[in-house]
Amino acid sequence: MEETVKTNTASQAAIALEDKYGAHNYHPLPVVLCRGEGVFMWDVEGKRYFDFLSAYSAVNQGHCHPKIINAMIEQAKTLTLTSRAFYNDCLGPYEKFITEYFGFDKVLPMNTGAEADETALKLTRKWAYKVKGIAENQAKIIVCENNFHGRTISIVSMSTDPDARKDFGPFTPGFITIPYNDLGALKLALEDSDVAGFLVEPIQGEAGVFVPDDGYLSKAYALCKAKNVLFIADEVQTGIARTGKLLCCDHEDVKPDILILGKALSGGTFPVSAVLANDDIMLTIKPGEHGSTFGGNPIAAKIAMAALQVVTDENLSERAESMGKIFREELSKIKSDMMELVRGKGLLNAIIIRPKNGKEAWDVCLKMRDNGLLAKPTHGHIIRFAPPLVITEEQLREAIEIIKKSILSFE
Ligand code: PLP
Repeated sequence: MEETVKTNTASQAAIALEDKYGAHNYHPLPVVLCRGEGVFMWDVEGKRYFDFLSAYSAVNQGHCHPKIINAMIEQAKTLTLTSRAFYNDCLGPYEKFITEYFGFDKVLPMNTGAEADETALKLTRKWAYKVKGIAENQAKIIVCENNFHGRTISIVSMSTDPDARKDFGPFTPGFITIPYNDLGALKLALEDSDVAGFLVEPIQGEAGVFVPDDGYLSKAYALCKAKNVLFIADEVQTGIARTGKLLCCDHEDVKPDILILGKALSGGTFPVSAVLANDDIMLTIKPGEHGSTFGGNPIAAKIAMAALQVVTDENLSERAESMGKIFREELSKIKSDMMELVRGKGLLNAIIIRPKNGKEAWDVCLKMRDNGLLAKPTHGHIIRFAPPLVITEEQLREAIEIIKKSILSFE
């Protein structure tokens, strides 16, 4: 694999430092960034790039959005952390704001997406024993093949990705794995009366932006309801306007029993995640049974309110929907042997690359980098494209030209 690190010392030095002192748990594209604004990032040599990853859909509102940054700075000067040992004057207003925003009785604030997923698993199990009446330690949760919910032990226990699991066992029991986008398999798995929940990504982002068939979510929801099973939506990547609706489940008018959010809940400034549910589920967890030192901290509360307000004020769902259509239409016109498929919803899209003369998705990403656009391959042959949702049509068309030019350079 070709890996052209710039010969410039600033980039090389930064990469060498990470390599020497950091754990080798990532394989970044060789580019060293030092500034971001809106849809752009700049490297340490001053070169500008379109950001077509948005930190895996955390920066939906664009880099360093002034309203979010100001909310963060103002609160940072006043009060940063109390822990939940005491009340603070930001959490209540935030809880009111976010529950009204998404239409749930209650929120449980956490920090990372993985923590929010863990919270949803615990909540589902509590509900299984306290409400559904499943016998102690027998509750099961249905999950999908090729899921991605994070990296903790229980979460990799649900994974089917060998890289995520190898040498990390023993694993947490209590999960039933079924193929994604397979209602027959779901129906069969739901026959087990110990099933308490079905955890699903409305689009599988990390798997390579795998969009299920129309009707999958609404039919899956109905199947769960018929068996008194919670429908749990992991919208950490798909939520908050990314797919052209506020939530990806909104495309099928599905209201999950448990909603998991993260990433863009902070506009990419700070780890902020949340689990939303109604009282019959949320109030099964009692004081002392779950929590986090930083979850619901005053800065996070102010950031999340600002970040969600920006989504409304700047019509980011509508923008994602209309820009996404242009993106897919234009990309599907590219005439190249390397372009196998374009798919996605809103501004969560991917192309599948057919390798040619030894060149693969990684090489296309390096070429796009050289031409001023950053994206990252997932699973070797797929490139995800997820720019900040504030992108204008003019910027989008300029970015599309870079993608076209980069792919066509291999012809
Ligand atoms: N769930 C989904 C659907 C994700 O895409 C991710 C991250 O990519 C996570 C959970 C984990 O989030 P975090 O990396 O903040 O723990």
